[in-house]
Amino acid sequence: MGILGGTLDPIHLGHIEAALAARAALALDQVVILPSRVPPHRSTRPHASGYHRFAMASLAVNGIDGLVTSDLELCASAPSYTADTLERLHRTGLSALQIFFITGADAFAEIETWSRYPHVLSLAHFVVVSRPGVAAAEMRTRLPGLTARMVSAARSDEGSGDPAIFLLDARTPDISSTEIRRRIATGEPLTDLVAPAVESHILRHGLYSLQPVIPSADHLHG
Ligand code: ATP
Ligand code: MG
Repeated sequence: MGILGGTLDPIHLGHIEAALAARAALALDQVVILPSRVPPHRSTRPHASGYHRFAMASLAVNGIDGLVTSDLELCASAPSYTADTLERLHRTGLSALQIFFITGADAFAEIETWSRYPHVLSLAHFVVVSRPGVAAAEMRTRLPGLTARMVSAARSDEGSGDPAIFLLDARTPDISSTEIRRRIATGEPLTDLVAPAVESHILRHGLYSLQPVIPSADHLHG
């Protein structure tokens, strides 16, 4: 099973393409899109609530074979450290070798700062997908201590022994949530950046704009 986690604020076609590329390269039945609670190491809060981020993720995967969403992290009472999430999955009966945790190369390059590093790497296979401007192979020079575990992504079984770090070069589109939020703030179109249903959801609810259609919970009380 693949997992693609992140703030997803909002989910865009880069996330979808990364999930599909990992699914194809590693012959995964399913990739679970997992919106995070606010990552504790991020200084900025997401700009949409977990409810809206989950809704947009579900709209984005609707009709795409092999992609589903999960509220596992949003429903948890503790912050979303990947290590905790992976251990929670182990308690449901999955082994480390059955979980493929998918990250973009920009995110994986920061792995040494993650909670419970390096233990977190023993809790699942990692699939590192290139991001425009960051080739997967760059991980070999940026994280020299981990090269022994890195392999090119192309295998159909779960493997045995230790979890691996699969490096996958995929042509995902050059999109970031930051750029999408910027465009909404300046009134530019989102064509080819997000699924049409996600764009409608954003506009209908006034997300990421200065004057939301309905005030968010932060503004309702006190
Ligand atoms: P932000 O600009 O807010 O950081 P983002 O576009 O980077 O947003 P995240 O929610 O931070 O999106 O990313 C979740 C995961 O998806 C991360 O592992 C990230 O590297 C990966 N990812 C995001 N966009 C792409 C893309 N275009 N290609 C490949 N991977 C991506
Ligand atoms: Mg990011």
